Amino acid sequence: MKPAPFKYFRPESLDEALALLAKHGDEAKVLAGGQSLIPAMNFRLAQPAILIDINRLSALSFIEEKRGQMHIGALTRHSMVERHPLVAQKAPLLAETMPNIAHVQIRNRGTFGGSIAHADPAAELPAAMTVRGARICLRSTRGERWVDAPQFFVGLLTTAMEPDELLTEVAFDELPKKTGWCFVEVARRHGDYALLGVAATVRLGMMGKVKDARICFVSAGETPALATNAQDALNGQAPSAELAKAAAQIAAAQDIDPPSDIHASARFRRHLATKLTERALNTAFARARGETR
Ligand SMILES: Cc1cc2nc3c(=O)[nH]c(=O)nc-3n(C[C@H](O)[C@H](O)[C@H](O)COP(=O)(O)OP(=O)(O)OC[C@H]3O[C@@H](n4cnc5c(N)ncnc54)[C@H](O)[C@@H]3O)c2cc1C
Repeated sequence: MKPAPFKYFRPESLDEALALLAKHGDEAKVLAGGQSLIPAMNFRLAQPAILIDINRLSALSFIEEKRGQMHIGALTRHSMVERHPLVAQKAPLLAETMPNIAHVQIRNRGTFGGSIAHADPAAELPAAMTVRGARICLRSTRGERWVDAPQFFVGLLTTAMEPDELLTEVAFDELPKKTGWCFVEVARRHGDYALLGVAATVRLGMMGKVKDARICFVSAGETPALATNAQDALNGQAPSAELAKAAAQIAAAQDIDPPSDIHASARFRRHLATKLTERALNTAFARARGETR
């Protein structure tokens, strides 16, 4: 199928884009990489009257580190994030996450901001950014505001963004010392959306005990919620295989309410959550202790 008719604007500056959104926000869609929006338009699941193509806003494509924080511009392509040395050095969880997103061709076009704005619970970046406590910058002609990831993802394909707002960048702390990380998922074929995925970080304190554990799931609910019960069970404990197993069971039983769909049953997703969380935690423990990368 082909999309329904629409008007097309290609602003040359951020101000022009924001002015267009202020005027047409309710009936417009922002076009970034087009890897989710164009298929939705072709299937007529989305029928925006107006497309605002932001691909000329090259100022929104950047990866920087400022005062211990990583900043990634909304228009930065997945492939750039995947290969960037700063990401490998300062944000290894993100570096490990990127190759799981779709295929090379899609990562060459798809954008960091597009993936966050789309808020697909089966997408990897919303979970990885929630675990990292990311803040999301939204701009409009009314000004700028920063929203914490858990408040940004409000439901299935639904965010806290207003129709006249543009997502311009995402910021998160670089991984602290003595912090291990792991992203792991199961998909039917490599590059498919995950049946279930886990993003985890574990920071160890002075005595080698868990000081700050964070776990977030992909494809386990409508939003990328943190596994708070499992996190509580980990904090203050000495890392061990037994602890990883116990926390994984808590996460799968208490922290998620996974859906059943044509891809997997809720029961199978819970099984994956148990196994993948245990694996992710054991890897994160080892990395936090500096035993492996
Ligand atoms: C075959 C296939 C497989 C895929 N597999 C995966 C996968 O395994 N994991 C995964 O995470 N993704 C997957 N994707 C999606 C891909 O990662 C997309 O790149 C991403 O979801 C959207 O990014 P985009 O830049 O293409 O956004 P677009 O498609 O251009 O836009 C998506 C939505 O976000 C809005 N938007 C985009 N940018 C902004 C902005 N800056 N401000 C405000 N709103 C904005 C748009 O208006 C639209 O509603 C797959 C896509 C395809 C076609």
